Amino acid sequence: MDRLDGKNDTSRRRFLKGIAAMPVLALTGRQNLIGHSAGLPPGEKARASSVALSSASDRKFVAIQIGGRSFVDEGVEKCLDTLQEKGGVNTLMSTVFTYGRGLAGRQVPGQPLPDHGVQAYDEIHGGSYTKVHPEFYAKSVIKNLRAPELGDFDIFADVIPKAKARGMQTYALFEEAYNPRLMPNFEKIAEVDINGKIGRSTCLNNPDARNFLMSMVADWFSNNELDGLMWESERQGPFNNTIGAEFGRFRGNASINCFCAHCVRKAAEQGINVARAREGYVALEQWVKLTLDQPRASDGAFVTLWRLLLEYPEIMAWEKFWFHSQEEVYGLLYGTVKEINPRAHVGWHIMHLVTMSPFYRAEQDYARLARVADFIKPCTYNNCGGPRLAQYVRNVQSTIFRDSTPEEVLEFHYKMLGYEGEASLDELPTAGLSANYVGEETRRAIADVQGAVPIYPGIDIDIPTALNEKRTQPADVKAAVMTAFKAGAPGVVLSRKYAEMKLTNLAGAGEAVRELS
Ligand SMILES: [Zn+2]
Repeated sequence: MDRLDGKNDTSRRRFLKGIAAMPVLALTGRQNLIGHSAGLPPGEKARASSVALSSASDRKFVAIQIGGRSFVDEGVEKCLDTLQEKGGVNTLMSTVFTYGRGLAGRQVPGQPLPDHGVQAYDEIHGGSYTKVHPEFYAKSVIKNLRAPELGDFDIFADVIPKAKARGMQTYALFEEAYNPRLMPNFEKIAEVDINGKIGRSTCLNNPDARNFLMSMVADWFSNNELDGLMWESERQGPFNNTIGAEFGRFRGNASINCFCAHCVRKAAEQGINVARAREGYVALEQWVKLTLDQPRASDGAFVTLWRLLLEYPEIMAWEKFWFHSQEEVYGLLYGTVKEINPRAHVGWHIMHLVTMSPFYRAEQDYARLARVADFIKPCTYNNCGGPRLAQYVRNVQSTIFRDSTPEEVLEFHYKMLGYEGEASLDELPTAGLSANYVGEETRRAIADVQGAVPIYPGIDIDIPTALNEKRTQPADVKAAVMTAFKAGAPGVVLSRKYAEMKLTNLAGAGEAVRELS
């Protein structure tokens, strides 16, 4: 199946060749890849994607995120049998690189083991779960990244032929979860906070960090018959982090990134006053401390914060600079894949916060992201969404919305985000969010991209929550999948990883897929 007619294919290839040929420095200018002047003409993108969508409608796209550990523990063929039979799965999103537990390894310790796989917890080292071809890392400062814990098992070479034989596709899935202690030279690609401290993630503007990511992607796509790629860049900019707009418990000590030499130089070239941005963030950090610790300021929290933003517009300029840098990396990875395999389907996992925080939602503009994507996966995780949204609300209530009660802040968020009929703050952690939330977020994303790319909502199957909080039930999964498809999604991504899903819950997805087809 060719998603593009001949003429578009040629012009698209020429455009993408252009991206890949561009030296990194050229990409750091004002005209980044996402800019209207540089992207594919909207008509061309929409035409190409409408062909993709009409073809996809023949068969719903049912993907599952899965790590190598499950194939090793359960056997490749048996695992594929289970995925097809229980989940109606036709696409593997195989975790090829991570140092985290969210996408690799068995069940997270402390959570009950599911009804399949080896009944014991494991330790993970992390790294690459496919063979590393050194010639692709000549320009990378990070070289030895093969994960040791699964021996010679290769999540691509050992699975793709067997999946293909069944008509299943394979996408490479990777995320920004690093372990600096296990990655020699990590300091050369690390982000640097406002105090000069090296962080646990990479700088988005550091040429070595970009080369490292592009080396891995080029290696995977040159050596394997992959159908697609999905990257999880689960982080946000310094303003959102500083005010605690997150769903983990906020303690008022966010690290403010990135102020490395590359970022400072590039921001200055873009006309941002770096010294003022630094001063602004120091003042913002101070405002957060005072707001958390002191009685209400006479003018209230919101007014004093707004006054600070008026005084230091550079705070917002640095935030914008941050997420535009992230979008440039999306563009680079997109171009890297397309240069090797123009037909591979490249897309982005947009972290769960996009359904909770209006600040993050404003930055993650799907219409703009669609210019360097073939699909977008918004995380519409409704079960763990309950406790996560409740904690998010408590976090932002403690800072920017200090003038209101937590209950009022939640109601206000429901209105801003467009959710109706969801639980009150007391009940939210145990009730979770509804299937309707999955539908609302799916419809919103589809409207935003105007059909330019397919939207594949992420479906929550047993994403860990505390044992006394909302836990996934088969009916939740079935309702979420049904609602996503009825809202117009041509596909779904069952998340986070097969190793933590109960088969009884996975079967909820399979039931929905069968009923709808
Ligand atoms: Zn930097």
